[in-house]
Amino acid sequence: MIWILLFLLFAGSPALAQSNSQPNVIAFGAHPDDCDLRAGGLAAKYAALGYKVKFVSVTNGDAGHQSQGGGMLAVRRRAEAKEAGRRIGIEYEVLDNHDGELLPTIPVREQIIREIRAWNADIVLAPRPNDYHPDHRYTGVLVQDAAYMVTVPNLVTDTPALRKNPVFLYFYDSFTRPQAFRPDIVVSIDDVYAKKIDMLEAHVSQVYEWLPWHDGLLEQVPKDLSARKKWLATQHPENVLPEWRSALEKRYGDAAARVQHAEVFEITEYGRQLSEEEIRQLFPFFPKK
Ligand SMILES: [Zn+2]
Repeated sequence: MIWILLFLLFAGSPALAQSNSQPNVIAFGAHPDDCDLRAGGLAAKYAALGYKVKFVSVTNGDAGHQSQGGGMLAVRRRAEAKEAGRRIGIEYEVLDNHDGELLPTIPVREQIIREIRAWNADIVLAPRPNDYHPDHRYTGVLVQDAAYMVTVPNLVTDTPALRKNPVFLYFYDSFTRPQAFRPDIVVSIDDVYAKKIDMLEAHVSQVYEWLPWHDGLLEQVPKDLSARKKWLATQHPENVLPEWRSALEKRYGDAAARVQHAEVFEITEYGRQLSEEEIRQLFPFFPKK
């Protein structure tokens, strides 16, 4: 009897997850805060549904500051990333590769393959391989190179291969050469926008120190804690861009007009491809048709 029940349970669940009906999600950024900026809202939404979500920073961020650096900065940034993950209920790992020196080597590719396999991932997010920052570019290349290879058992034999190639998604970027980002999936993050800002705020060394310094805005950062959080939100309004509107309307219908804050993703050609029904299963946020 129990076998019949188990069979019905598994036969009835969508063929999405590697091991259960809730997809496992893993995102790769070059630096501790990259995933947060592009997919912190999506991660918070998945975490609220009880999905397993992990952010991985491929470098330790040890070059990202105007007056600190090296091992001490890496320690600080690892702690910030951990706190950021805690704030939205996800896991956060920082790999110990040097910031500003990332290359698409076989050892780093193997690290990525191991991470995707160990997480039993159904959805993998990463930057596109065209970007202003070499670490971002090579993170894009590394994850692209890990797609498909995660299913090949003869590689990285210490971690069992996945039976199904995951869905690989790109984070948003505004670069247009060789081609512009295609907004395949736009997700409203209105319900978790405050959480996303809260998550970003955990990266104190970045959002209140390094990035404003680099952009010549350090004088603007308020000293008062609540004032500076409001200022941070002004730096990350996450508004819906005009070119995302039609993808938003396709899935949200009339409700699209009310969406204020959003994140957007492109489905890469290197992983599993999705039907419209599967998109709605993997992104269970859109109003029912
Ligand atoms: Zn970065």
